[in-house]
Amino acid sequence: MEFKFDLHTHTIASGHAYSTVQEMAKAAADKGLELLGITEHAKGIPGTCDEIYFHNMRIIPRKMYGIDLMFGSEINIIDYDGSLSMDAELIEKTLDIRIAGIHTPCYEIGSVAQNTQAYVKAIENPMIDIISHPDDARIPIDYETIVDAAKENHTLLEINNSSLDCLSSRVNAWENLQIMLRLCEEKNVLVVADTDSHISTAVGVFDHVEVLLKEMNFPEELVVNRSVDLLKQEILKHREIRKIGRP
Ligand SMILES: [Zn+2]
Ligand SMILES: [Zn+2]
Repeated sequence: MEFKFDLHTHTIASGHAYSTVQEMAKAAADKGLELLGITEHAKGIPGTCDEIYFHNMRIIPRKMYGIDLMFGSEINIIDYDGSLSMDAELIEKTLDIRIAGIHTPCYEIGSVAQNTQAYVKAIENPMIDIISHPDDARIPIDYETIVDAAKENHTLLEINNSSLDCLSSRVNAWENLQIMLRLCEEKNVLVVADTDSHISTAVGVFDHVEVLLKEMNFPEELVVNRSVDLLKQEILKHREIRKIGRP
């Protein structure tokens, strides 16, 4: 399938990534993407940027090398109530795209029920559009609960290409993503594929995701990367749910 965008990537501002905004944008344009998301780590990851970095992102052009750009953050989920490592005001004022994920330096791994609740609370949070890499056996979760919550809230669960790489520190991602994707297929839930690139050469490279989707014969229409319009509609639906109030 054709991936029109890659929304989860990091630049040197994240402290352990190796390319600049312009190098990432150029790489995305060369790959033929229509849209690139740059989502630096939030507070809690050693060496990442300070809050002022997010405040000043307004000065960066949202178009470079002929493609659209969105700037955001991959925010840490820090406890079982789904608390985030960034203030609501900063999120709402500065981020075009909002990803939340669990990273072991910023989260004490709990039981399946506790980890699942942490994710569900983030999924229900209208400020969070995407859940990054819910695929790591070190943080065990109940996939059916997560997929049901994602469906109800129009929050996108991620198929993370980096998790599927043999270099990844995450554990059993192939098996866990298969479980998650089977449930998404059964329940008709959209998912997003991202590269989580930490260097420009990885931008728009969905090699492992493609193998996984093919192996599973996963329906292409459930992968939101096929259309930027579909992505924007889904994000709007998610943000609207809260605006009109949840039942
Ligand atoms: Zn991450
Ligand atoms: Zn990341």
